[in-house]
Amino acid sequence: MRNIVLFGPPGAGKGTQSALLVDHFDFVHLSTGDIFRANIKGETELGQLAKSFLDKGQLVPDDVTIRMLEDAVNAHANGNGFIFDGFPRTTAQAEALDAFLSEKGQSIHGMLALEVPEDELRIRLAKRAETSGRVDDADPTVIQKRIDVYNAETAPVADHYKEQGKYSGIEGLGSIEDIFGRLKSAIEGLG
Ligand code: ADP
Repeated sequence: MRNIVLFGPPGAGKGTQSALLVDHFDFVHLSTGDIFRANIKGETELGQLAKSFLDKGQLVPDDVTIRMLEDAVNAHANGNGFIFDGFPRTTAQAEALDAFLSEKGQSIHGMLALEVPEDELRIRLAKRAETSGRVDDADPTVIQKRIDVYNAETAPVADHYKEQGKYSGIEGLGSIEDIFGRLKSAIEGLG
């Protein structure tokens, strides 16, 4: 069993690669962005709370996000492990995840970080806006806000895993298959 954090800025390809990794390794995929969007669509209380943050490109507060993620983990049998996509996004979330997994006798085996230059991210997100229907993809100001939030609050999460010797940087440019190949080798290398 391997628990993986798939990391990278908005538009890095985490969702696309997660789908391929789930097919190959039979992981449980937990995307906090997807869970928030499902709650917004279902008009739940959590969705109503999250919507204003998502629409502006801001992070949903840690306490809400951490509780939601823990519920999602508890709701799944963890056969081959989890891919965490979009979580942890702050150092506080990373610390909470370590503590939560450790209570269950588990841990994160590795963080795989997709590395993509900012100009390319803006191009990809603008393109995704044509089909995603996502409010946060449609507005260049919101896209920039998400990139800024990533640089200020999320990028430091990499240090958390570097300190534990669990960080691998993955070249995020190239074909979807090539990038998948790099991730697959990195995961196999985790043992
Ligand atoms: P992206 O393509 O920007 O990586 P996601 O689908 O992962 O998009 O997330 C969309 C939005 O959901 C974020 O901009 C944020 O508002 C919210 N969100 C997702 N994950 C988290 C998290 N771990 N903590 C706080 N907010 C989150």
